[in-house]
Amino acid sequence: MRRTSRSIAALREQAQHCRACPLYRNATQVVFGEGRVTARIVLIGEQPGDREDLSGKPFVGPAGKLLDRALEQAGVEREATYVTNAVKHFKFELRGKRRIHKKPNDQEISACTHEWLEQELRLIEPALVVAMGATAARAVFGRTTAIGKNRGHVIKDAALVNEITADVIVTVHPSYLLRVRDEDRHAAFDQFVADLKLARKYAPA
Ligand code: SF4
Repeated sequence: MRRTSRSIAALREQAQHCRACPLYRNATQVVFGEGRVTARIVLIGEQPGDREDLSGKPFVGPAGKLLDRALEQAGVEREATYVTNAVKHFKFELRGKRRIHKKPNDQEISACTHEWLEQELRLIEPALVVAMGATAARAVFGRTTAIGKNRGHVIKDAALVNEITADVIVTVHPSYLLRVRDEDRHAAFDQFVADLKLARKYAPA
């Protein structure tokens, strides 16, 4: 049975008060998932970045812009998907006045997945989950999963955390494309687009 947008809205509201791990302490706000609640594709990233933390919206910073460009090239309408993160609060360390991204640890990933990501997946029941990057893959599979070895095909009926079953594509996180060497960036971007094209073909809107 399809749930209504109200259910995701209620979840989003509840998440504002989450204290299930220490990351709420320094972040500005929860950045919850956003998009179509009947989406066929759920895209999962790692955690909000600086811009997302300030705006309260997922994937609006530099990595989000890259994701938008890749989705467009792949023929996937972002509005037809649901975009979220494994971890809903921004983890960072201060260097001077700058807030530098810090990778969430296993406890934080597990806590946030259990509290929120699992519920998002249960409510939306997507045809396909696209796990972008090692943290998203760790969140959905509940264990470390190599991206390079597992990308490029659909992992069918994957047993995810807490008895959720879904078809999954793993790929890189778009922020990886910002860090990759200049000479490799073009090919890395094309490979990311190819993964998203595969997602579109497998689970057309
Ligand atoms: S990161 Fe997730 S589990 Fe931790 S406090 Fe924020 S919403 Fe809760």
